[in-house]
Amino acid sequence: MRETRRRILFVSSEVAPFSKTGGLADISAALPRALARTGCDVRVLTPRYGFIDRDEHDIQPLDGASGLRADFRGRSLRFGFSRAPRRGEVDTYFVECEPLYDRPGLYVDPFTNGDYIDNDYRFILLSRSALQLCRLTGWQPDVIHCHDWQSALAAFLVNRERGEKNFARTRTLLTIHNIAYHGLFGPESLDRIGDGAARFYYPGGPLEFNGHVSLLKAGLEFADMLNTVSPTYAREIQSSYEFGYGLEAVLRARGDRVVGILNGLDTDVWNPATDAHLAATYDADSLEKKELNKLALSARLGLAHDASVPLLGSVSRIASQKGFEILIPILSEILHLPARMVLLGSGDPQLEHAFHEFARLYPDRFAVRIGYDEGLSHLIEAGADIFLMPSKYEPCGLNQMMSMRYGTLPVVRATGGLADTVVDAADPARGTGFRFEEYGPEALLRAVRRAAAAFRNREQWTALQRNAMAQDFSWAQSARRYRDLYDQCLRNPPRVVA
Ligand code: ADP
Repeated sequence: MRETRRRILFVSSEVAPFSKTGGLADISAALPRALARTGCDVRVLTPRYGFIDRDEHDIQPLDGASGLRADFRGRSLRFGFSRAPRRGEVDTYFVECEPLYDRPGLYVDPFTNGDYIDNDYRFILLSRSALQLCRLTGWQPDVIHCHDWQSALAAFLVNRERGEKNFARTRTLLTIHNIAYHGLFGPESLDRIGDGAARFYYPGGPLEFNGHVSLLKAGLEFADMLNTVSPTYAREIQSSYEFGYGLEAVLRARGDRVVGILNGLDTDVWNPATDAHLAATYDADSLEKKELNKLALSARLGLAHDASVPLLGSVSRIASQKGFEILIPILSEILHLPARMVLLGSGDPQLEHAFHEFARLYPDRFAVRIGYDEGLSHLIEAGADIFLMPSKYEPCGLNQMMSMRYGTLPVVRATGGLADTVVDAADPARGTGFRFEEYGPEALLRAVRRAAAAFRNREQWTALQRNAMAQDFSWAQSARRYRDLYDQCLRNPPRVVA
């Protein structure tokens, strides 16, 4: 049978290198390219935030797609589309709307530290514009692939527009990258979604969550298929409130449509043998050169270098999800093992303050850098011996995969994607890191102690590093699974919500 070329519209609120707050941006850059390599025709749609420079990225207006109007009942906004040059066989389109997107932040106002109050307009427009782009370009997508609450509504809109020729065959897939963020707004947002939304807003209805309009729930109810970014997280979010954040029953009701597919890494960007951010490149056969990165990292951050003392690294949003609250009570003990630690990240001001205090108390053992620094994040992956990820929950997690690829062994809480990617060193032949189960400081400390003890045994440590570096975290396998999922979407009859 001749293979048909699948047409996929990938709608995401952040896409590297244009915009990024976390892993979603990396995935939205790498997965479309990997899908294109499997033969899919993939187009990406994302907002052109004000900080995305048109000249730097050679972004050009799309012919016949300027001066359009989006009607939000009572407010009408001019919007349009533009396009970046094709990269890796993928076209990136931008929705342009100055009053909504010309801001310094993606979701959060850096001046107030709160969400932008018109985030409903901003991301309802993203979903609506997905359909508009298809109409304008006369392109009939097989699947519109939505991501998190910011583009989940596109699944609802396509479902309601099934009568329209352009979308008669179109199916929708919603990928849940983090179920904790629901996209909740007041009932006045219903008008902004458009005609027919109010019908689905009633207690327990498909658009309602605890007296609010939930854009994520709209996607969970209306998308033809759902997936999350690891098999374990797919189970966890259906299991309890702790993981499902109140949406566990909605997910369980659609259990036969919920799949887990691990994210991959952009292995061209994350490659210790070619990484330009490193002090010295290396591979599994030249691990001695990794030490030069530890030296450079320690020097850059003002830590005392000692090859025999393990250096722990962490690159992360500083949010309670990431497990910092179980790290802080035992951090002094870790530093006295002895060990050193570097942390790069930003987020919760209280946690940031606590880490500044540790840096003041232990200037030669602990260093923190607040902010976003791509180059330093690569040097930490290469220069640290051990990478810490004690997450409370972790849908997939990228950093543990990056660190394994760099021979930096991760200490992880066995949850979500961490459980699916890290094999405990208790099995020396297959081990790639250190896992702990219970979410608490003592369990974390025990795991760090085990890692520090293993570090002292050079031969054993090198064997574990080689196991970790031999893992295949490329997108190729996951992209094939997504393509199979698109096929599954198209084989099933469209979702009907009464
Ligand atoms: P999440 O999406 O929950 O933040 P992931 O592990 O999936 O977590 O992805 C985080 C991504 O963001 C990784 O690529 C990580 O290296 C990067 N990152 C996070 N904080 C920083 C920072 N302060 N500087 C540089 N990169 C960062």
